[in-house]
Amino acid sequence: MKAIVCVKQVPDTSGKVSVKPAFSLTAEDIKTEVLSVEKAAEKLVDLIGADVIVSVGRGISKDVNKGIELAEQLAAALGGGVVGASRAVTDAGWMTADHQVGQTGKTVHPKIYVALGISGAIQHTAGMQDSECIIAVNKNEGAPIFGVADYGIVGDLFKVVPELIKQIEAAKAAL
Ligand SMILES: Cc1cc2nc3c(=O)[nH]c(=O)nc-3n(C[C@H](O)[C@H](O)[C@H](O)COP(=O)(O)OP(=O)(O)OC[C@H]3O[C@@H](n4cnc5c(N)ncnc54)[C@H](O)[C@@H]3O)c2cc1C
Repeated sequence: MKAIVCVKQVPDTSGKVSVKPAFSLTAEDIKTEVLSVEKAAEKLVDLIGADVIVSVGRGISKDVNKGIELAEQLAAALGGGVVGASRAVTDAGWMTADHQVGQTGKTVHPKIYVALGISGAIQHTAGMQDSECIIAVNKNEGAPIFGVADYGIVGDLFKVVPELIKQIEAAKAAL
């Protein structure tokens, strides 16, 4: 016959708890090693669905960041536009390849296409010449882009674009 032993449990009301780790880890126990931390992929630009595209070319080389910023501001002033680029810009790594317009980039048909500092090589115009309205800004009056443009402005884009933005904002405010 088995004996049954009854033990009275006395609760610990001291409020103090000590936890001793029941295990230890060494470097060999860790099976995952972080080799590098990559930035998550950024959202790709939607050139195909855009009504307004302001593209930049090598003409922004004097100040690339400023040139891209001006293009973004002009695209916004024209109404939710996006920024495109010539291959010279994407090849230089100034913008990612998803921004490229042309034969080896995207073929686009926006309502408004603005070309800033883009010469208008056939490989570029092949991707944008069917836009409804093309506006080109180039400091060289002989640039081929003027051959496909509906409106052309001969001048330094760094001076022309801020003035364009000012005029657009003034016109919108007057509505
Ligand atoms: C097989 C092949 C495929 C290609 N595919 C593509 C493609 O898909 N898309 C594409 O774009 N290209 C493509 N290219 C490249 C193309 O031939 C041209 O080299 C490229 O389009 C030139 O880019 P860009 O006009 O920005 O530069 P550039 O030809 O160097 O022109 C720069 C322009 O900026 C102007 N400029 C300079 N400074 C200013 C300023 N401050 N203000 C105003 N204007 C200024 C200059 O007068 C000049 O006209 C391809 C080429 C090949 C061989």
